[in-house]
Amino acid sequence: MAVLNYLISRSLPLVPRPVVKAFSRRYIAGDSLEDAVRVLRELNGAGYMATLDVLGEAVDRHAMAESAVKEYLRALRLIRDERLDSNISIKLTQLGLKLDIDFCLENVRALVRTAGEQGNFVRMDMEDSSCTTDTLDLYERLRREGLDNIGVVLQACLRRSLKDARALPERSNVRLCKGIYLEPRAIAYRQRGVVNKNYVRILGELMDRGFYVGIATHDEDLVWEAMRLIDQKHLPRDRYEFQMLLGVDEELRGLIRRAGHRLRVYVPYGPHWYAYSLRRLKENPSIAGYVVANLFGRGPGTS
Ligand SMILES: Cc1cc2nc3c(=O)[nH]c(=O)nc-3n(C[C@H](O)[C@H](O)[C@H](O)COP(=O)(O)OP(=O)(O)OC[C@H]3O[C@@H](n4cnc5c(N)ncnc54)[C@H](O)[C@@H]3O)c2cc1C
Repeated sequence: MAVLNYLISRSLPLVPRPVVKAFSRRYIAGDSLEDAVRVLRELNGAGYMATLDVLGEAVDRHAMAESAVKEYLRALRLIRDERLDSNISIKLTQLGLKLDIDFCLENVRALVRTAGEQGNFVRMDMEDSSCTTDTLDLYERLRREGLDNIGVVLQACLRRSLKDARALPERSNVRLCKGIYLEPRAIAYRQRGVVNKNYVRILGELMDRGFYVGIATHDEDLVWEAMRLIDQKHLPRDRYEFQMLLGVDEELRGLIRRAGHRLRVYVPYGPHWYAYSLRRLKENPSIAGYVVANLFGRGPGTS
């Protein structure tokens, strides 16, 4: 299966753009902010919260990061004006992390301040392991400045994440996911069973520290484990939320919501959908398998 997924992912650039667009449509709200707002309205109407992501590659010019900031500011304004229940998710490399950390910090600070003024929240997605330390440092720095409406992400596949969870500042807001990037075995668990055990272990620690947790997964084993921990620890409903990607396993999404839990859907949009889709597919060939399964109507989200 791994070899098949790898071959599929390598041949994806040969697939005609309209076909890539057809299968990306399920996972991406559209090219424009207005497309994304339509999806947010539908999700909110169906009882889901959302987080908005402006698709973009790691930037190699300051101007590109500045235009990403402008787009996020426009998104925050529209979320406020349309009274949508959505925060934003940002990627630090899109805001200049690899160009200049201080410039990136300025950009993130501007977004967090603006979001704060309107009672909103900013989540910093976690990228590949070359960004982990800088992302956590930047988070702590902004928290020390008194900015509380910001959250970070930990990846259960990384061997360091349990330690990172223990080192986070008080009252942290943490999304926990498995991690999408293929990392060397020296720093990451490779076996699914071990990643899952680590996920549950870290989740328990985060809950015990009294953090707000975003339980980001479509893996029903983990959803079950999370519900067990919530029940066992008598965790109040306002101390956690489930999180899922747009277009993935909508049946499970409905089951979680109907069981009385809050759920936030991650909604990516933007004109860079093509490069983004191909890059993500190449980064993690197993996703290519899901895509092809969806293409042929056998995917988890087809119900
Ligand atoms: C809200 C949210 C935010 C995330 N943020 C980050 C982040 O900041 N950094 C990071 O590294 N990773 C992030 N991820 C990705 C995450 O790390 C995983 O790679 C991804 O969600 C798949 O892991 P899983 O827990 O769903 O388990 P898996 O075992 O990989 O998947 C469980 C099942 O879900 C289905 N599935 C999972 N993903 C997809 C997909 N893309 N398309 C179709 N079906 C799918 C498959 O049927 C699969 O069998 C995020 C995920 C979510 C849900």
